[in-house]
Amino acid sequence: MEILDGKKFATQIKEDVKKSVMVMTKKPMLACIIAEGDKASEIYVASKQKACAECGMLSKIVRLDSSVSQTQLENEIETLNNDTQVTAILLQLPLPKHLDEQKALNKISPQKDADCLTFFNFGKLFAGDKDFAPCTAFGIIKLLEKYNVEIEGKHAVVVGRSNLVGRSVASLLEHHNATVTLCHSKTQNLKKHTQDADILVVAVGKPKFITADFVKKGAVVIDVGINRIDGTIIGDVDFENVSKKCGKITPVPGGVGPLTVACLMRNTLFLAQHVK
Ligand code: NDP
Repeated sequence: MEILDGKKFATQIKEDVKKSVMVMTKKPMLACIIAEGDKASEIYVASKQKACAECGMLSKIVRLDSSVSQTQLENEIETLNNDTQVTAILLQLPLPKHLDEQKALNKISPQKDADCLTFFNFGKLFAGDKDFAPCTAFGIIKLLEKYNVEIEGKHAVVVGRSNLVGRSVASLLEHHNATVTLCHSKTQNLKKHTQDADILVVAVGKPKFITADFVKKGAVVIDVGINRIDGTIIGDVDFENVSKKCGKITPVPGGVGPLTVACLMRNTLFLAQHVK
């Protein structure tokens, strides 16, 4: 069994971004909007800001009160859209419950859409664009490539269908010629599907949801889950037992999480380089 070391690979991606940024006269700037103020979102935004500094990029945080109105939030996004210093905008999710997440995301200019979640960019992804995708999904594909995991012709099973993770990684896997099964909470006999997976991606948000009996011997298992239990981070996969059966697996922490942040840096650089 081989561990897919996302942390190590993330460091390499950030090093590559840094090299490109070093020769740019105008340094890219990532703006993060945080409208919740919960502890997890604060940690995520702080790690994104730290990564920007590591890559020689600029960052700014726009902190909004959790009672912010939809109109106020959209006005803030519009201000960032019009700010020529800002290269990319990230709306930290989840938003407070009274706000319409997709409506707010769609206010981000597609040219500054760091996580590829506007309908415009998401549509491009679904139409076959492999070069720009939500950071987590993009990172997973890059990790598979890094570890020489063959995707073409394989059966990839994705559990979870959020735009942020499941649906976008399923689309990318299909673009790389996998045969893809996308499972969700209404899927019947989930185990029947997962047991047939050569590549199994799990993004459900339930600790140790996937146990060894869900996994085919020798499969490649990507655990996206981040579940905070009593101060510890636990994945969606029962690592201890699944790792004895599968061929390759991502750990939690140290797997997909660091890659998401590194690919956010990559996406910000991509927008700086490709959008005029
Ligand atoms: P969502 O809550 O948006 O989506 C969860 C998905 O899981 C839904 O599609 C849901 O189905 C499906 N699901 C729920 N219960 C079951 C079940 N019993 N059987 C099959 N499918 C089920 O979560 P996210 O996609 O945003 O995140 C998933 C996990 O990944 C979370 O732990 C999150 O913290 C983590 N995450 C990690 C990142 C990283 O960088 N490592 C980045 C982003 C997320 P349905 O659509 O039918 O409701």
